[in-house]
Amino acid sequence: MTRTGRKEPLYRKVNTLARGVRHPAGGEARWDRNTKAEAQAAAEGVTRGKLRTAARFSAFDYTPLFRFLLSRVGQDWAAVHAEAMSRLDREAPIFWIVALHPQDRRPMVRIGESTYFTGLYVTEDGRLARVDPDLTAPMMRPFCACCTHTLNGQPFGLPFDPAQPPGLPQEPLP
Ligand SMILES: [Zn+2]
Repeated sequence: MTRTGRKEPLYRKVNTLARGVRHPAGGEARWDRNTKAEAQAAAEGVTRGKLRTAARFSAFDYTPLFRFLLSRVGQDWAAVHAEAMSRLDREAPIFWIVALHPQDRRPMVRIGESTYFTGLYVTEDGRLARVDPDLTAPMMRPFCACCTHTLNGQPFGLPFDPAQPPGLPQEPLP
């Protein structure tokens, strides 16, 4: 809350100079495939590369939104959504990590070059929930040696190992 009682926005301007270096193409694309936004973009004929530039790598950083949503797991979705909307410039980033449909649910969602947040969904009784409640950063293995991968802001715990599948140990790459 600010002194005037208005709540802080859930997004902030990106300092473009502080963005990380691009790393060579890797296997991590599986995590951001088929998201709601990308499905919509595909339907509209937008390529994945363009969507990344236009949406995920936008002028605003929605990390405060994702932290807000994670802090509201277990709470009534209608109230959480209403508060988020009152503190956002647009609705779409909410659904980058909150799956609208069962087929969109992902244990984690890629938001930046090597930045992931826990995937969320809304239960049948209208509460915000984690897709995989057991997912934590310490159990994660990075997708490359050159980037610091994070889940909910916490660095992945396992070392990079090209002989081991990256990401979730219980969900090795095929
Ligand atoms: Zn890298």
